[in-house]
Amino acid sequence: MINYTERISLLMHDVVERTPRLSFIDLKEVVVFGRYGRTDAEGAFATCHCLTLPESEPGYYFWRDRSTGELTRRSEWFVTKSPQVRVGGRDIKYLVSFVLPRFCDQSLERSRKIDLYPEGTPSWIAKLDTVVHELYHIDPDETGIRRVSRSDGSDSPRSHGPLFYEEVAAMVKGYLASGPDPLIYDFLQEDFNGLTARHGGVVATTFKNFPSFPQRYMERVNLPTSDPMLKIEPLKPITQPVLYSEDDLHIRQFTDGRARRLPRLPRKGQHRAA
Ligand SMILES: [Zn+2]
Repeated sequence: MINYTERISLLMHDVVERTPRLSFIDLKEVVVFGRYGRTDAEGAFATCHCLTLPESEPGYYFWRDRSTGELTRRSEWFVTKSPQVRVGGRDIKYLVSFVLPRFCDQSLERSRKIDLYPEGTPSWIAKLDTVVHELYHIDPDETGIRRVSRSDGSDSPRSHGPLFYEEVAAMVKGYLASGPDPLIYDFLQEDFNGLTARHGGVVATTFKNFPSFPQRYMERVNLPTSDPMLKIEPLKPITQPVLYSEDDLHIRQFTDGRARRLPRLPRKGQHRAA
């Protein structure tokens, strides 16, 4: 079977090496993983998630009486934090997720990117464009997602300035003109059914808590409330890990209808007792 996220990671290494504007990126601090999403459903093809956003200022939710406008209850104080992801002894700064099988079926004809490429450009270039696009979201100043970011650290549609798409297309053309080995990007030429037929299946790295993954979470903080008479709603307990390691990475097979976990192979250097 083809390990799709591994192939994307290898491609990213080559892109970063050949693209001066992306050469600051240290891919040891980036984890590529798969999320499930059908081809015929609306939604993103890929997302860049930043894990370096600082802890938020303390805040709380509140509820008002609809007629009087009076405060009726509030939540406990909380701060919003990024989980920590440590892989290979390194703190991961960015996660890039690819939505499978949807991403495998992305085509230039059905994308508004088509205007950025000359006529006759092969359809799969839309996928290479998406890979470069997500890398371009990695901020050289390490302040989060390049340009604007959502409070949950994910990519916002507003984080694309007017030139973002043009700059990405220019980098894609520059990469292809630099003479990369087609073996590095050939896998993008096939759609999901083509990949499944050729390789017997498509697998990808996912997190143990699939379909979830490391996301910003709210942590309770002890601060006094101004009105002691006001009813305080407790925050929901944290149900997702706040620390992830390589042990939380699982390989799953993606099919048209679902994602299934594969049995774990013994790690290199480990021996299973006979
Ligand atoms: Zn984007």
